[in-house]
Amino acid sequence: MIIDLRSDTVTKPSKGMLNAMMDAQVGDDVFREDPTVNKLERQLAEMFGKKEALFFPSGTMANQTAIKLHTNPGDQVICDKYAHIYNYESGGASFNSGVSCKLLDVNNGMFTAQDVVNAINPNAYYYSKTSLVEIENTANRRGGSCWDLDAIKKIKTVCDDNNLGFHLDGARIWNALVAKNEKASQYGEVFDTISVCLSKGLGCPIGSVLIGDSKIMENAIRIRKIFGGNMRQAGYLAAAGLYALDNNIQRLNEDHKKAKEIGDVLINLPIIKAVEPIDTNIIIFELNPDINEQKFVQKLAKNNIFVISMGGNKLRMVTHLDYNDDMHTELLKHLKS
Ligand SMILES: *Cc1c(COP(=O)(O)O)cnc(C)c1O
Repeated sequence: MIIDLRSDTVTKPSKGMLNAMMDAQVGDDVFREDPTVNKLERQLAEMFGKKEALFFPSGTMANQTAIKLHTNPGDQVICDKYAHIYNYESGGASFNSGVSCKLLDVNNGMFTAQDVVNAINPNAYYYSKTSLVEIENTANRRGGSCWDLDAIKKIKTVCDDNNLGFHLDGARIWNALVAKNEKASQYGEVFDTISVCLSKGLGCPIGSVLIGDSKIMENAIRIRKIFGGNMRQAGYLAAAGLYALDNNIQRLNEDHKKAKEIGDVLINLPIIKAVEPIDTNIIIFELNPDINEQKFVQKLAKNNIFVISMGGNKLRMVTHLDYNDDMHTELLKHLKS
């Protein structure tokens, strides 16, 4: 038995999902004639209470398109120092949009409206122009933590007062919605643009969607084309997304429950220094200083248990659709021994 907890992206499409893909009606999406892509886009736009949605091959491309739509070269984006758009998109924000990031390092990534106010550049020509605020929910490098919706609304007011765009990297928004019992439309009300991933917790092989109001989304399809993200009979992929929206959201509660149970075992192990709070499906824990991180990872790997090392003696596990009850029982047993 292989227990792969490196990421929730390691899932493979289920039989049901594959059947939905095989049965998909398709057409040429460059002509906007793929009925399944159009259906997925319509369904997600409606779910978030927005007018427009556009299917993308990756979350990176959806985020990069959003940054391009909100900014001009030379502008500045306010985000957490661990933001995906800054750390894990290959420098794309500067390469594609010519923007810099003002990195916030406060309150475990959950910055406040006042932090945003303080980070906005003065309106003098020799400063870069602050034009966008970006947050991530759940926050990946912050241990899958969920934002407080009221705090987000206060940031939105600052954005409105200062003419700033507001983008949500919602790669794992599904986990936040389920964990906090919130509705997608509550996020649609606050953000100008939202990117969501279908290939993380929802178990699709590929696919992300950028959602927004008509005006900001007007050029989204042109930017996607510039980035090389136009697709043809993408309905086979969109069908996986539609299947996931119907079948794989509510069950994320299972992943969250398992993550908490793993955390409860870890915290009682003598080799573990600390376990970060577990809001959703991500578990970040720190080994005691006398335990070698690489050796620990290798030892688990020899037992067919795969986790990711994050440096600084910290490790990460992520529960997901393909991490089943048998694997869970086996993992807990192994950790305890
Ligand atoms: C995975 C992820 C993305 C998108 O990544 P892709 O691999 O390009 O789909 C964006 N933001 C966050 C927070 C992520 O975890």
